[in-house]
Amino acid sequence: MALYAAAAAVLEGVESRQGSIKGLVYGSRFQNVKQLYALVCETQRYSAVLDAVIASAGLLRAEKKLRPHVAKVLVYELLLGRGFRGGGGRWKPLLARHQARLKAELARLKVHRGVSRNEDLLEVGSRPGPALQVPRFVRVNALKTCADDVIDYFKRQGFSYEGRASSLEDLRSLKGKHFLLDPLLPELLVFPAHTDLHEHPLYQAGHLILQDKASCLPAMLLAPPPGSHVIDACAAPGNKTSHLAALLKNQGKIFAFDLDEKRLASMATLLARAGVSCCELAEKDFLAVSPSDQRYRQVQYILLDPSCSGSGMLTRQLEEPGAGAPSKKRLHALAGFQQRALCHALAFPSLRRLVYSTCSLCQEENEDVVQDALQKSPGTFRLVPVLPSWPHRGLGTFPGAEHCLRASPETTLTGGFFIAVLEREEVSSSVSQTEALGPELTPSPAPKRKQQQRKLAAGASTPPCT
Ligand code: SAM
Repeated sequence: MALYAAAAAVLEGVESRQGSIKGLVYGSRFQNVKQLYALVCETQRYSAVLDAVIASAGLLRAEKKLRPHVAKVLVYELLLGRGFRGGGGRWKPLLARHQARLKAELARLKVHRGVSRNEDLLEVGSRPGPALQVPRFVRVNALKTCADDVIDYFKRQGFSYEGRASSLEDLRSLKGKHFLLDPLLPELLVFPAHTDLHEHPLYQAGHLILQDKASCLPAMLLAPPPGSHVIDACAAPGNKTSHLAALLKNQGKIFAFDLDEKRLASMATLLARAGVSCCELAEKDFLAVSPSDQRYRQVQYILLDPSCSGSGMLTRQLEEPGAGAPSKKRLHALAGFQQRALCHALAFPSLRRLVYSTCSLCQEENEDVVQDALQKSPGTFRLVPVLPSWPHRGLGTFPGAEHCLRASPETTLTGGFFIAVLEREEVSSSVSQTEALGPELTPSPAPKRKQQQRKLAAGASTPPCT
């Protein structure tokens, strides 16, 4: 299905309450879900403005065959977007006939409302505040290229490279065609907010992965060395899996599970484009994957990024500005699954390190889940105090929770995120693990950790993990 028809169908579905934007985008079978999602969200945000312009330009009266939602998407692209990213096809000449009138009506609306920028036409609340304007992070896919080559490519395209940033301030002040390397992640480029690279040839060829910085941390902190066996428990649509494959240099094995057939289909496309060859994808409930299955006997690393409320997602905040927190009932159900999944993951016999992450801001899905798992397996796993200089830490709800990381637009210039790194106790003295994590990630001395673990165990009221 063409981009504009797919976007119109999603908008229509949202209006008739068939589902959320995200659900309908994934259900659409349109291959480039990110492109579709971005277009729908942007069009939706300007919905009232577009309705006003289309009505006053008399577009639907003049073009009887043009359906209202298709018109809305096309007019968004023509007046407010970055041109016809979907090519425009047969609609381009039709829109060209009305272009002058539509532009005039948009200009008239701005005069009427006394504003000069398109953005100022938005109602307060659907306008992204400065806090939501986080930089565009771009991970260089080391399976296909290297940072130096990508930097040269952008420089040849007229971008100005400013070296590796030394602070968040450098990222905050990025403008125009300037870009940087992130101060923390070795292969993460940073461009000004709203830089759209979905059509960029390097993205299309899988050399670049458009991935928020916070979402790059889980694989980086898991740091499986090449040759290892890794489980990605809730893997689709696969950005973190492709990052894991890059860290493994495609050597070793990733067992990736997900329940959702459509998301797995997008994931297969993403992995193929990214050149991932070490991943076995399975449509399977992770809770039904047996830790004693001989296939997983060498699994020492698990990434658990389960379904969550998504309350930290920027796109959600833009899509549903001012939307309240998830209901208690939903949180309870999500946290229940997250706890079961974490306990299940910790039952894999060779597991050495696990990263648990969510894009939720809710304590129930984050610190509480980790605390529950530690209490259920006293003395077996500990929280690793990673990235000591990271400014935003876990809520101090239990001893050691400060070892977890939180992220947000305000504190780290990223989407909202939570990350906890757990390591098996006997691994803590292993030099190789410490080296793999790098100096920033060096664990604290073992005796103190054991004490902490005992304290937790003393307060444990829940049965042990199986
Ligand atoms: N890690 C992914 C990435 O970086 O692209 C995002 C994962 S998303 C937050 C959570 C995923 O968990 C969804 O794709 C959902 O279908 C999947 N999921 C939910 N319950 C599951 C289960 N019991 N077993 C496996 N996957 C599950």
